[in-house]
Amino acid sequence: MKHYYALFSGGLDSTLATLLTMSQQQAIRLTPLFFRYGQKSEAEEAKAVFRLIPLLRGHLPNSSSILDDCRQFDIGGLFAWSDSPILKHNPTDTGRSPDVENRNMILIGCAASVIMADWKRGDEAPTRLIGGFKNEHYDTTKRFADAINRVFTAFERRICLDTPLIAPSQRGGSSPKRLAKLARDLGGLKLLKDSWSCYYPQSGEPCKCCRACQGRQRFFSEVGVRTAKKGHR
Ligand SMILES: [Zn+2]
Repeated sequence: MKHYYALFSGGLDSTLATLLTMSQQQAIRLTPLFFRYGQKSEAEEAKAVFRLIPLLRGHLPNSSSILDDCRQFDIGGLFAWSDSPILKHNPTDTGRSPDVENRNMILIGCAASVIMADWKRGDEAPTRLIGGFKNEHYDTTKRFADAINRVFTAFERRICLDTPLIAPSQRGGSSPKRLAKLARDLGGLKLLKDSWSCYYPQSGEPCKCCRACQGRQRFFSEVGVRTAKKGHR
């Protein structure tokens, strides 16, 4: 049985990427990895992860497939240098870019360390790592994933980074319309409402203004689901 890992934030994209990967396999073992990197939405993301795992298990392709409990890692100190407003140690400034420079490269490196530690304990190889990347930023492109995979080929046993949300042609991109159709076809809309996408939670509720909230609103308006007046659900 193939063993997949997923960079799993409890957000719309990583949840959809996980769902899609499970639907494409006849049998699968999948281990979600959640990283606490000092993001302001850390607690809300962790709660979403906790809600989503049992729901995702309902979408496993067969009874021999396994979705492990999500493994969580605290790597906050690695981003102490960043001035991104989405990090707890910086003030919220919704006018500034929320990007945390090189975040995905660092998260992928941490995930690879986890995977290699598992190999030492006797798990099978090769292994695939899923990222919910959408071709939007320099570190979510197909080109970036290809560069990472070239580095991974240097390892004795191979890890491959998969970006299932990026269309093979890249032309279709990962528009809200395409992703909404995908989610509908997979029967995952109800589950996706339990995900969390907001950089600046306010008393446990989404801000409804940030880039992540806006992306979420576009996605759910494509599928004809109105987001609740308060909160995501
Ligand atoms: Zn928000």
